[in-house]
Amino acid sequence: MAPTLQSQSKELINVKLLLIGNSSVGKSSLLLRFSDKQWLPEDEASATIGVDFRVHKLEVQGRKVKMSIWDTAGQERFRTITASYYRGAQGVILVYDVSSRESFEALPRWLEELENYVSPEVVKIVVGNKLDKEYSRQVPTTEAAAFAARTGCLFVEASAKTAVGVTEAFNDVVTRIIDTPSLWREDKPKSSPRAAAGIMTGPTNSTAASGSMPGNIDLSQVQEEDMSGGCLC
Ligand code: GDP
Repeated sequence: MAPTLQSQSKELINVKLLLIGNSSVGKSSLLLRFSDKQWLPEDEASATIGVDFRVHKLEVQGRKVKMSIWDTAGQERFRTITASYYRGAQGVILVYDVSSRESFEALPRWLEELENYVSPEVVKIVVGNKLDKEYSRQVPTTEAAAFAARTGCLFVEASAKTAVGVTEAFNDVVTRIIDTPSLWREDKPKSSPRAAAGIMTGPTNSTAASGSMPGNIDLSQVQEEDMSGGCLC
């Protein structure tokens, strides 16, 4: 029997979101701010932050959504991310630091890498973090907005420190995903053929080449379990 509109709206929609971007742009801080409403002072953060994922439930347009939000946990330091990190993602949050031109200029490379692993319809948002550092801004808003529009991404500036724009960033992605039923109805988005074959781009290291996270944790399998979030290390 075909599902009624009412039963459809009660069904729990599982959404996988990824955070990517250069090291130190504030990916872990954005995740902590959004899911735990927490901010660690700058001097504590680098030593303490090592978030791998968080699960966050919310309602969007009357639909229950369970988001698993994945953090790279430092993999980007090796200039590559494993194929299994990308598998099954419906949304990607590309983070740069508004006070670091270099982190903004790395975005095309991150987008290029994405193309190898996720289908083109996956929702992407460019997030300019550290908006509180207006005094040392190196990337004008208009330039970043134009880049996002040109590359088919949503765009927002945010600050994990002050919480400005953070909820908006995550909500915008999820809303766009819910508006794209092919991303979550029945089949999950297909990985690109390269990802399915476990082919890596860019310089690889031994961890990346194995196609799994450090410690041989296969993220795609972990994601299937009912998670409450936390660190897997
Ligand atoms: P990641 O490597 O991209 O996950 O970055 P982290 O979340 O570990 O943050 C790197 C550093 O930037 C830490 O010292 C954070 O405290 C700091 N940071 C993160 N977000 C912000 C922000 O919005 N404003 C400011 N001023 N600092 C931030």
